[in-house]
Amino acid sequence: MKNLLLIFLCFPIFINGQSLSPWFYEDNHPYCYDSLNTSKTYDYVPNGLQFTPKDNFKGLIIFVNFQGSYSNAPNSITVNGWNHDNVDLSKNYISTVQSDGTALDYFYSNNSQFAQYANNPNVKNISKFYHEMSMQQFYFTSEVYKRNNQVFSVSIDPTDANSWYNLNYKVMQKILSDDSSFNWAPYDNRKNNPYYDFDNTDTITNPPDSIPDYIVFIYKYNAAIGNHLYSNGLTPTNMNTWSGSGGGLASASLSSPINFNGYSFDGCGYTHCLGEASLVGLFIHEVAHNIYGSPHYSGANTVSGAYFFPENGWSMMNLGFGAFSSALGWERWYLDWIDIKSNNQTIFSNIFTSTDLTANGEYILSDFITTGDVVRIKIPNGTGRNQYLWLENHQGVSIFDSRFAINNGDDEPFSPSPRGLVAYIDAINDDKSNTYIFDAGAGGIKYLDSQGKYDYSWDSIYSSPNHLWGNRIYNYHIDNNNPISGQMPCNAIMSNYNYDTVITKVFYTNSTPVDDEAYWLIKRDGTYTDDMLQSNINFPVGSRLGISSSPMLVNYPNYSSTTFQGTYFINGISVEVLEQYSDGRIKIKVRFNDIDVTQNLRWCGKIELNDITENTNPDIIITTNKTLTIDKSGTPNRHTLYNDQFINPTIFSCLNNSYFKMNNTSFVNVDNGSTLSLKSGSKYEVNSGAILRIRSGSTLVIEQGSQLLINDGGQVIIEGTGKLDYQGGTITLNGSNAKLEIAGNLTIAANKTFTFSGSGYVKFSSTASSANNITANAGSA
Ligand SMILES: [Zn+2]
Repeated sequence: MKNLLLIFLCFPIFINGQSLSPWFYEDNHPYCYDSLNTSKTYDYVPNGLQFTPKDNFKGLIIFVNFQGSYSNAPNSITVNGWNHDNVDLSKNYISTVQSDGTALDYFYSNNSQFAQYANNPNVKNISKFYHEMSMQQFYFTSEVYKRNNQVFSVSIDPTDANSWYNLNYKVMQKILSDDSSFNWAPYDNRKNNPYYDFDNTDTITNPPDSIPDYIVFIYKYNAAIGNHLYSNGLTPTNMNTWSGSGGGLASASLSSPINFNGYSFDGCGYTHCLGEASLVGLFIHEVAHNIYGSPHYSGANTVSGAYFFPENGWSMMNLGFGAFSSALGWERWYLDWIDIKSNNQTIFSNIFTSTDLTANGEYILSDFITTGDVVRIKIPNGTGRNQYLWLENHQGVSIFDSRFAINNGDDEPFSPSPRGLVAYIDAINDDKSNTYIFDAGAGGIKYLDSQGKYDYSWDSIYSSPNHLWGNRIYNYHIDNNNPISGQMPCNAIMSNYNYDTVITKVFYTNSTPVDDEAYWLIKRDGTYTDDMLQSNINFPVGSRLGISSSPMLVNYPNYSSTTFQGTYFINGISVEVLEQYSDGRIKIKVRFNDIDVTQNLRWCGKIELNDITENTNPDIIITTNKTLTIDKSGTPNRHTLYNDQFINPTIFSCLNNSYFKMNNTSFVNVDNGSTLSLKSGSKYEVNSGAILRIRSGSTLVIEQGSQLLINDGGQVIIEGTGKLDYQGGTITLNGSNAKLEIAGNLTIAANKTFTFSGSGYVKFSSTASSANNITANAGSA
């Protein structure tokens, strides 16, 4: 996705912060690596890392420009939103900042404005964002640095600088020399850096510390400023290579200490290096790093972490191009802004098992942003990180229920944000006392798009039109439904675009990859569909997210270079959207053990069936007249080649105590080199009129201790190119018309006797000219 990273930086016009997602900015996060005090006995995420996101909090924004003493002076370089012709940038650098320092497009400067502008649709600023997301618990205001009651841009000489922290130091030194009586007191109301240890809104126990609480340095800088800055007067240092130059730094550190009339500075705040970056988007992104050591997810910095498919979506990490410019329910819960409740915050809806359900499993979700209603359901993920399905109802009541990105590069409007029930899976963190998530949580939000999961193909000729600001766009086509292993429209589509022997992929990291072979889904069948913007991800009334849907409600496995795409665990949990009331509330029903396959489906990947019901009842039922095809995926699930493709074969395993039942006249086809494996302790039942077919190059494995039960009128057919791998296990042919037909190969493991019980029959029907279709290993019979 290198093109997106680069090209969004060239976004032509920035209007009122409605432009970019920080997601396209490379940023750096030294704070997240700060070694926390290991002697602590108590960590609580909502206390915050740099500050506690509650109550009154006031920051200071300092605008900075560079002295134009160079032939190639930074001030001569265009930075969108900054007037580069005006050497004195005191009024014009950010067009929406008033001369008196009011910056209503970004912040309130005093608490009375929270009520004053609460219902003003033209004010969509950072203060209002935190106020709404925190359920009116957080009052974050900010002022702009001024002199003589006028906004003032601090002008520094960057000569010899070699880092942004070095420039921050120069800025503070300049203020000290030119404005030595500056009063810091209004910006020091708390004790800094709780490090999750204490609530720093408690200023009685933890009084202010003569260190300003939050400082943001915003530089008139763009990437065109290059290597004309010199370190030590000798060694050129290209400013573009400084940490943070692609966007911001999640710290406002100074390279050396400064004593400013008794005040000192500890880095609380952030450095907004790229002047034209969206202040709102980048600010909220950096603050997320500052308050909970946030990893990158939802497309931020194009990080996909331990997962194969890159993802785009809404969150505090990415306000610009997801469905909404709202926080996630997970984020609001993680910071103690909401409880996991529904029915207008009256019913707990934090569901781990079926015993947590309400009597009828029903919940009513009111508007997510304004009431905080959410439902969270734990879904099985083997031994991997805990994963949860989150459900939110987005009714568009708040102005933050629309995305910041309004128009595409052709200056036409994107389709509007979705309305109704939306769903995503969180694998970031469920433990507020386990604070370090920066690496393991990366990429840990997976949005479910009701449009489905598919195998995609693409035309080899791409374009780079204005529509996506010159980003590379491929024309995609939907090939097949692939509800487990396919990609969703809001994923970037992974593929081997350069026709070499590897899909370039950076995984298990939280740092910005610049060359992943993945492109966003913008165009399908010749038409701009802008799928990545999630305009149609909502689940409408009548839909049921579960075992029979596409996407299936299933975990997101990790990806590694050795195990490739991990295991999908079928779970039997479903969510049905029952009804939407006229006031926008949505009623849903949550079920466990909802294991009926009621659609014709194609499943691919590494799939496990476990003892979902935890009793002797079936754990999956293929219902009458429905066909399940266990097939090879058409979507890459590995980045290296295997048999000339980037796809591992499909393996469907029935594990100990699982029970796979084919109802009368249902069908299961195992196709295209796939394996259906009956593990020890599993049971597979074929009823009358039902047929299990093992097709082209595929295998049925019957392990020792497993049970294959074919009832009267049921059939298992190993077709000519299929194989039955018999490793022991019980085969029961229950009735004279119960049939196991082997036209393909039968392999009998060493020391095993291939036999069956019951009154049915085994038919060997190979038409091969030389009858060599039975392989009997040593000691077998
Ligand atoms: Zn970041």
